[in-house]
Amino acid sequence: MAGLYELSEEHEALREAVRALAEKEIAPHAAEVDEQERYPAEARDALARAGFNAVHVPEEYDGQGADAIAACIVIEEVARVDASASLIPAVNKLGTQPILLSGSEEVKKLVLPSIAAGEASASYALSEREAGSDTASMRTRAVREGDTWVLNGTKAWITNAGESTWYTVMAVTDPEAEKKANGISAFAVHKDDPGFVVGSKERKLGIKGSPTCEIHFENCEIPADRIIGEPGTGLKTALRTLDHTRPTIGAQAVGIAQGALDATLAYVKDRKQFGQRIADFQGVQFMLADMGMKIEAARHLVYTSAAASERADKRAGFIASAAKTYASDIAMEVTTDAVQLFGGAGYTKDFPVERMMRDAKITQIYEGTNQIQRMVMARALLKG
Ligand SMILES: Cc1cc2nc3c(=O)[nH]c(=O)nc-3n(C[C@H](O)[C@H](O)[C@H](O)COP(=O)(O)OP(=O)(O)OC[C@H]3O[C@@H](n4cnc5c(N)ncnc54)[C@H](O)[C@@H]3O)c2cc1C
Repeated sequence: MAGLYELSEEHEALREAVRALAEKEIAPHAAEVDEQERYPAEARDALARAGFNAVHVPEEYDGQGADAIAACIVIEEVARVDASASLIPAVNKLGTQPILLSGSEEVKKLVLPSIAAGEASASYALSEREAGSDTASMRTRAVREGDTWVLNGTKAWITNAGESTWYTVMAVTDPEAEKKANGISAFAVHKDDPGFVVGSKERKLGIKGSPTCEIHFENCEIPADRIIGEPGTGLKTALRTLDHTRPTIGAQAVGIAQGALDATLAYVKDRKQFGQRIADFQGVQFMLADMGMKIEAARHLVYTSAAASERADKRAGFIASAAKTYASDIAMEVTTDAVQLFGGAGYTKDFPVERMMRDAKITQIYEGTNQIQRMVMARALLKG
């Protein structure tokens, strides 16, 4: 049995394979993808060719059935060179996890094999402009009409919208429900469904290679059997999904931080001031030590949370929030220190650390802001 304190040989082999692919096929395009704010098509194709686009899909749906730690390792290693590209495997997991948790066999068979094959991809549509942290106050509606559900409304901030094939959409089906959360259902919407429209792209601080858009439902009609789970269970499924995917955002944050540390280690050994390498100044060494220490701690928490998410561990929700929060907070600290250790050069686009600092910021915001994570953690602590 692979212990938590040592990854299995398969995990280490996977890391080596993804790192080699990321350095050869993704890293060379990362600066240009950011500069041109374009989708990292090279990364999408390379990940799909190598079978790293959605390793979590179970074997029974033609996937690889990799465990949650393996999914984190893929995301971490891609994020180490390009955070935008790491959203391809991350959002494939986010978009399909509700189907894995609650979908019917038909929906699973409809969606999962094409994603495993890299022919399709998935997005997750929970947020709205006026319903961000307060997800239950969403307004998008779905009404049953004969053999169809008809959706109306707008979802905001949808990662990889316009690129994805399938959208897992949460919508209100019972506006009279006593508890708003119990009046929400989840649906699998296809990009070609009539009345599905992708809106304009947000202009962002970072992860510029990953499009973030509104999506509109204008009398969007889908077959009735595309509901995911029973009516009224959609928000529960959406929130349970996050227990599985917050570790992946932690992995993304660890990867960004590791990329920044690696670039910094190379720079401080090369750069000379006062007649010596800046790596020889103790003030610099202490910063490097702190960066490495924080990354190591975050990585262990992320893998622990990934393992807990698969064990139906009672503390999985707490640990997932802790991993996402700790890893994203240290990613922001480490990337900021990386820019500092590059001096003026760090503030320019000649080196990757300014991009990494901008990319790191989103990990503190999405899949629930770190304040919301702290609420989740405190609630779990006080209940216990
Ligand atoms: C680039 C990007 C990609 C995204 N991708 C997706 C996606 O694919 N799918 C999706 O559904 N959503 C996505 N989101 C949405 C994201 O999850 C939300 O932006 C996030 O949950 C915060 O919601 P909000 O922006 O409405 O902020 P608000 O909820 O308005 O929060 C504003 C501030 O108030 C704080 N706050 C709010 N409530 C509380 C409270 N009770 N206690 C303490 N502080 C509080 C927040 O922490 C934050 O600092 C994405 C967002 C971005 C920016």
